[in-house]
Amino acid sequence: MTPSSTGDPLAAVPRPAERRLALRVTRDAQRVVRGGHPWLFDRGITDLRGEGAPGDLAVIFDDRRRFLAIGLYDPTSPIRVRVLQHGEPTTIDRSFLHDRLAKAADWRAGLPGTGTTGYRVVNGENDGLPGLVIDRYDATLVLKIYTLAWLPWLADLRAALDAVMPARSVVLRLSRDVGRRTELLYGLTDGVTLSGETPEGSVRFTENGLRFEADVVHGQKTGFYLDQRENRARVEHLASGRRTLNAFAYTGGFSLYAARGGAPEIVSLDASSAALAAAERNFALNRDIPAVAAARHSVLVADAFAALADLRRDGNRFEMVVVDPPALAVQESQIAVALRAYERLVGLALGVLAPGGVLVAASCSARIGADTFFEAVHRAAGRPLTELERTGHPLDHPVRFPEGAYLKCLFARAA
Ligand code: SAH
Repeated sequence: MTPSSTGDPLAAVPRPAERRLALRVTRDAQRVVRGGHPWLFDRGITDLRGEGAPGDLAVIFDDRRRFLAIGLYDPTSPIRVRVLQHGEPTTIDRSFLHDRLAKAADWRAGLPGTGTTGYRVVNGENDGLPGLVIDRYDATLVLKIYTLAWLPWLADLRAALDAVMPARSVVLRLSRDVGRRTELLYGLTDGVTLSGETPEGSVRFTENGLRFEADVVHGQKTGFYLDQRENRARVEHLASGRRTLNAFAYTGGFSLYAARGGAPEIVSLDASSAALAAAERNFALNRDIPAVAAARHSVLVADAFAALADLRRDGNRFEMVVVDPPALAVQESQIAVALRAYERLVGLALGVLAPGGVLVAASCSARIGADTFFEAVHRAAGRPLTELERTGHPLDHPVRFPEGAYLKCLFARAA
């Protein structure tokens, strides 16, 4: 399947080169790669035979010239090589990609049976396809690349996808770093349709039986925060009779679950009016569910920090508060500042939480470890919290290396 009316968007993109780059690396890097880590940084390379272009295959050797790993080379990224295979040499081609996709699909085979047609099919490094994410929204697949190294492989990937998981549309999204290298993109743009029909507006999918829309072309991430599915289901189980505030609501994921779980009233708070308009449409999509129809839902377009302070001052109180901010620490240097911001947020959230109310505090900053985050929540709460649950990654977002773990969430009851 390729789009016929507009021509193939991959027509100008070169196919994978025949050459292999041979890399010698530092002792430290050898140890890390031998241990199965998927990244080789630029500073770990001591000798490079040949000149590499994005997407070239790079073979990493140890001091005795033994094979350690093969991966995708990207001279534009400090993560110079993303490892596809450790230990044993192998041929990297369409059938290799096919096998990796089939394994990833197999791992998620049970999800559609739970009323879930929107989920992550490939979680990058953690599924053996480094720097590549594929999310399914029913019949639409969204492929997001985090390194230019995937460009020459996109045609093979598209063909392998067509064999393993045929879709009505395949949409390409580019990470911020990839998207800004327009001079290296061969005319590809963020949101372009790689095959099949170009989605018109948002696409529909279900999550645990709830209906949602996602803007796969312009939306955040690939259109939806699929990683919060299991936490949303936990919120549903806690929601009965609890007036709920969903801060950083995006398109209302947590809000819909709270409604179905019996929350009489839900406020969705976000800085993005477009996201909250989608949240209202998502409520409309589920009006046939009695609990959703019965719940009062309102949206509040505002900065969450300011809005929480205002709500508190006005004496507004909730029996459940969800805080799920964007990654506050992207770089190492931002950790301390981000932790203080989390602590401020938790303090503000507790300010509007009624006695005995439930706090749901999530963090998606990979730079902040789970324990550090949970301690910070307790420190900031200012009153005793009884923990109900600490959660990590859902099954479609597996973690295979330390940097792959980013999501943590605390469920607690406040005194
Ligand atoms: N909980 C959501 C995902 C949240 S993503 C879900 O389950 O789908 C983070 C959200 O925070 C985004 O929607 C973004 O628009 C919003 N945001 C970022 N900074 C904000 C701020 N200062 N105040 C309010 N919302 C903010």
